[in-house]
Amino acid sequence: MVSPKPEADTASAGASANRLRLVLLGPPGAGKGTLAEVLARRLRVEHWATGDLLRLAVRNGGVLGAELKRYIDSGELVPDELVIRLLLDRMSDGGAWQTGFILDGFPRTVEQARQFDMALQRQRLRLDLVFHFATSTPVIINRLSGRRVCPRCQKSYHVRNIPPKKPGVCDQCGESLVQREDDREATVRHRLEIYGAESALLLQYYQERGLLAEVNGDWDIELLYRTLISIFDRRALVTSAERDSLLAATS
Ligand code: ADP
Ligand code: ADP
Ligand code: ZN
Repeated sequence: MVSPKPEADTASAGASANRLRLVLLGPPGAGKGTLAEVLARRLRVEHWATGDLLRLAVRNGGVLGAELKRYIDSGELVPDELVIRLLLDRMSDGGAWQTGFILDGFPRTVEQARQFDMALQRQRLRLDLVFHFATSTPVIINRLSGRRVCPRCQKSYHVRNIPPKKPGVCDQCGESLVQREDDREATVRHRLEIYGAESALLLQYYQERGLLAEVNGDWDIELLYRTLISIFDRRALVTSAERDSLLAATS
């Protein structure tokens, strides 16, 4: 049995950077995954991307894999039940509730947000902050059309904005980069429509809980990163020493 966590863990004030529990919201291509990777490394928290978990499940095959692939390739959302179960199982397996984390690509519906809140409550935890990456359509289209991903380690690049050192090859693991099936133009349009339909209520859900902070997703990564750190600072989610060392981080 998991023993209950001390009450103090649920309080935001005094939380240290490696205990932060964050959500990144924004349209496909907003740069959530790219920033989550940098932020997770520097804050020393886990990065949970449901898109990556789902693509891994597709690669593992079976009936479930085939079913998930149909949703992903057509740009539809995977049903709430499936994605919630996958994420919560993985987080519980890895003992992930004990550390801070960044959720990227989840939640995508109010139902997912509610279920995740209930899971947090069972652990006597709550979210610290939800960032909304408000991103303009031309920027989204440019980013998705130039996105190339590593099928092995999932790292994402951009042919112009964030190119790998050697064209077409992953810096981290040497695998050949690919374009995602669902980054084709027709599917992208459908994904953006779905995002438009689901996002307003989701943003409202977190707004009502005082957790929402909006940032300009069109900005470059370094400016976005610095903006996020200053928001942590303003909300007393990090100490001033942590803020200074996070702002000085380069790797
Ligand atoms: P992007 O990086 O473009 O936002 P993701 O990698 O997050 O895309 O997601 C790719 C696809 O995986 C989505 O179009 C959807 O089919 C599925 N997916 C990912 N996360 C979720 C989720 N939280 N709920 C439902 N479907 C999801
Ligand atoms: P998301 O996870 O929101 O779908 P990604 O992080 O995969 O988005 O980024 C989409 C594409 O845009 C990738 O090719 C990535 O290299 C590039 N990218 C991400 N953030 C930025 C940024 N701030 N400025 C320019 N390009 C970016
Ligand atoms: Zn790789």
